[in-house]
Amino acid sequence: DTPSVRRHQDRLAAEGIDVVRVTYPDLIGTDRARDVLLDHLPSACEHGLAFCRAVYHTTPRGDVVAIQGGIDAGLPDISVRPDLSTLARVPWEPGVAWCLGDTTDPATGGPAAESPRDLLRSVLARCADVGLSPVVGPELEYFLLEEDATAPNGWRRSPTVTGSVYTAGLRADPDNHLLRTLRQLRDLGIGVITGNHEFDGGQYEINLTHSDALDAADRAFRFKAAVKELARKEGKLATFMAKPFNDSGGSGFHLHFSCVDADGRNVFDDPAGAFGLSGNARHAIAGILTHAPALAALLNPTVNSYKRFGPDTLAPWLINWGLDNRSAMVRIPPERGSGARLEVRLGDAGANPYLAIAALTAAALLGVQEGEEPPAPLEGYGYDLEKSQVLPMNLTAALDALEADEALIELLGKDFTASFLAYKRDEAERFQRHVTDWEFAEYSYHL
Ligand code: GLU
Ligand code: MG
Ligand code: MG
Repeated sequence: DTPSVRRHQDRLAAEGIDVVRVTYPDLIGTDRARDVLLDHLPSACEHGLAFCRAVYHTTPRGDVVAIQGGIDAGLPDISVRPDLSTLARVPWEPGVAWCLGDTTDPATGGPAAESPRDLLRSVLARCADVGLSPVVGPELEYFLLEEDATAPNGWRRSPTVTGSVYTAGLRADPDNHLLRTLRQLRDLGIGVITGNHEFDGGQYEINLTHSDALDAADRAFRFKAAVKELARKEGKLATFMAKPFNDSGGSGFHLHFSCVDADGRNVFDDPAGAFGLSGNARHAIAGILTHAPALAALLNPTVNSYKRFGPDTLAPWLINWGLDNRSAMVRIPPERGSGARLEVRLGDAGANPYLAIAALTAAALLGVQEGEEPPAPLEGYGYDLEKSQVLPMNLTAALDALEADEALIELLGKDFTASFLAYKRDEAERFQRHVTDWEFAEYSYHL
């Protein structure tokens, strides 16, 4: 309401803030924003900020892609209202405060069907109906790249040292990128816990604290935007794409997942249950395994995502679960009690955090509602094909699985799923028609 907006405005002015950056996640998780001069904050809150209803992507065509109610309707407005409860000062940009926005479809006055934040809210409401509140702890990996005109794509890993997994310090990170980033993210209020160098040159991992699913998605979303901004400030590119290079591994988006009841008690823990896990935990695992092919569409949403999957990658390839087993798609970390949880290793860092968490939650909820039991947990190394079913190995196969998964679509919503599928089918088809460097290298000389 107006008095509370005025109070925010006065407080921000007193803190030397003169601009509020209002960011919302689009369908693919890109942070779309407008910088609003502080004087205009009340009007932005009252009327919303107008954006065009489409999803943009970086292609040679620089094009927009149809989502329901978008191009087909003549590219009308969607309106974005600042959520002032998410205001935070941007430590590296004096005078700027940053908040998230929620989209409204002016045609209906309700949330836009393709709004990732509202989709997650609606799945969480369905969990609340059965007394469950999901708790999520995100882990994100990414590559830091520096410009290099001689590199194939114009960017090389920064630095290029490999084999530095689980290290911190100057030998793997001579510019102290990680320390600087951790401190800035802490000051922004992202709730980061630890960071380390990952397997490959210029690859880092940062772990976020766990919290309720919407807050965790908000923080993972802001985390990615902030890391990209901080890298840019140093003239570098931070990329969360799943598998940027042929000669190194991919970047995962591991999600630690549990549920609490109304009293905040972890309902995945049960000292008397099989493996020390409750029925709900086992049902959630079963739901995630059953719906894994469709989940891949949302947790691994790009053409590139499927190049991260494979045997011996620490990324999954098969649909399986195991007790403290990093070769499994769903790993159950050894902690029990309030720390009892699943670590879902399926997602890649390029996924939209809202959609990934919403889809995962929906699959877990379906497992709970069905009272599904998972197969026996994997023993030993998890990449043997005889032991489990393979994940979809390309985007089209995953989109087909999503389109066929009626139970999941019921939870995600038909309109949302239609927009998502339309956008992603276009992406898969554009790739299919594209002639790659690999083809030229493979075929041009002898054929
Ligand atoms: N980079 C691996 C992935 O793509 C994960 C490595 C790890 O276990 O931290 O999921
Ligand atoms: Mg890692
Ligand atoms: Mg992990």
